[in-house]
Amino acid sequence: MSHPMTTEQKPAAAMSGNEKPPALLFPFLDLKAQHATIREEVLDAVNRVLESQHFILGAEVEALEKEVARLTDCEFAVGCASGSDALLLSLMALEIDQDDEVITVPFTFSATGGMIARQKARPVFVDIDPRTYNLNTRALEAAVTSRTRALMPVHLFGLAADMQEIMAVAGKHKLPVIEDAAQAIGAQYAAKPVGSMGSTGCFSFFPSKNLGGAGDGGMITTRDKALADRLRILRGHGTRTKYNCEMIGINSRLDALQAAILRVKLKYLPNWADARRNNADRYRAMFEDRGLDQILGLPFCPDDCAHVYNQYTIRVPERDELRNYLRGAGLPTEVYYPYPLHLQPAFAYLGYRQGDFPETERACREVLSLPVFPELTEAQQSKVVDTIAEFYA
Ligand SMILES: *Cc1c(COP(=O)(O)O)cnc(C)c1O
Repeated sequence: MSHPMTTEQKPAAAMSGNEKPPALLFPFLDLKAQHATIREEVLDAVNRVLESQHFILGAEVEALEKEVARLTDCEFAVGCASGSDALLLSLMALEIDQDDEVITVPFTFSATGGMIARQKARPVFVDIDPRTYNLNTRALEAAVTSRTRALMPVHLFGLAADMQEIMAVAGKHKLPVIEDAAQAIGAQYAAKPVGSMGSTGCFSFFPSKNLGGAGDGGMITTRDKALADRLRILRGHGTRTKYNCEMIGINSRLDALQAAILRVKLKYLPNWADARRNNADRYRAMFEDRGLDQILGLPFCPDDCAHVYNQYTIRVPERDELRNYLRGAGLPTEVYYPYPLHLQPAFAYLGYRQGDFPETERACREVLSLPVFPELTEAQQSKVVDTIAEFYA
């Protein structure tokens, strides 16, 4: 590790406000540690693309599309410029239009609701289940109206949403499902990969995702050939053959450089997911050892799900105090997410109010994500757990 631990270090008291926090002992996500393990392979891949001077789509992108299709048990995968575009292109390909309603959750990254709004459709929010942080399917059917045109569940933090119930409601009302799987590549629900159950699965290669590129990137998976064709046309200006515009599309292609780097990293993804799961299991064991599982709300994973822990998120009522205390001891944490979509300025026009989604609002006050990246060491985890124990001592 490039950040040696100093075992004798005195734990800092909670910061009083105007003190400068000490340097972090290690980063929240150590991408440099990961790069160090694959540097030569990545450089070779970059070189290969530079020598080819083929930068947009092409063989590297097609190869990555095939590999992601195989991983997600889908026949088709279509590379695009970002996870947000994967959502937008899915909505476009499914002809979701002005004033159509799309049901999603308010506890997610803003792009989930933002892409629905960008398509001039209306995001309709459903509250989350407090244990999984995913869409509460008990509230789903009541949100379906005659204007509902799609469901957009999110597999938050790397845990699949309750797809059996979601697909049942979708089937009953003949609605397509767009899976926001941006945080969940490799995750499974009842032995099915996320991205393979809905009409489309939307993946992000933003650097902080489990499969992160050297910049932005995204992918849409589907088992529907006609939909895959439309997605390919839409991502490339609406043209199938050069300069013949069949529909209004966008420019959202995946770069060959990104695809070549992602192909290197994809080989390691199963190992990295295992490492994240091991870290999650180790946190649980360490918390249980100290009786802290009685105080902290630890992540919950239903038996039939394979979690990939893009985030390891605990919940505590005194979240901000705990976060400050950890920061005072040089320990990194993050809050995903501090504000629910329905109370953000961009979504104010939807007319939701404080109190509309109590579990989402409570989660925004209580969640705290701890470092769980694959290269995290046992010593680093102990430091986090010991400092949390001190906070509660
Ligand atoms: C990251 C993310 C997105 C957007 O992906 P980008 O590649 O950053 O555009 C969408 N939804 C969720 C849940 C995400 O975490």
